[in-house]
Amino acid sequence: MERLKVQEGFDVHEYRHGLKLLKEDRETMRLANRDGFACPACGREFEKLLVSEKRTHTFNSPPGPFCLVRTDEQLLLLTH
Ligand SMILES: [Zn+2]
Repeated sequence: MERLKVQEGFDVHEYRHGLKLLKEDRETMRLANRDGFACPACGREFEKLLVSEKRTHTFNSPPGPFCLVRTDEQLLLLTH
C-alpha cells in the first residue's frame, strides 16, 4: 500500500492517477481515494482526503475516525 508522502509538503499531482477530485476551490480540495493509498498518519487506507491551505476550519463531525496531517503550507484531513 503506497503511503502519501508529506515530508516536503503534499503534492496532489503525484497521486492524481488514484485520487478522484470531488470538489475544489481556491484554497481547498476534496479527493476520494481510488487506489488504496495509505494515510500518512496511521498507515491505514483512507476513504476521503481534504487538502487545505486555509488558516482556520470549522467542521461538522466527520463520520467515523479521521486523521490530521500538517505540512508547512497545508492541512490534510483524512477520513477512514
Ligand atoms: Zn489515518
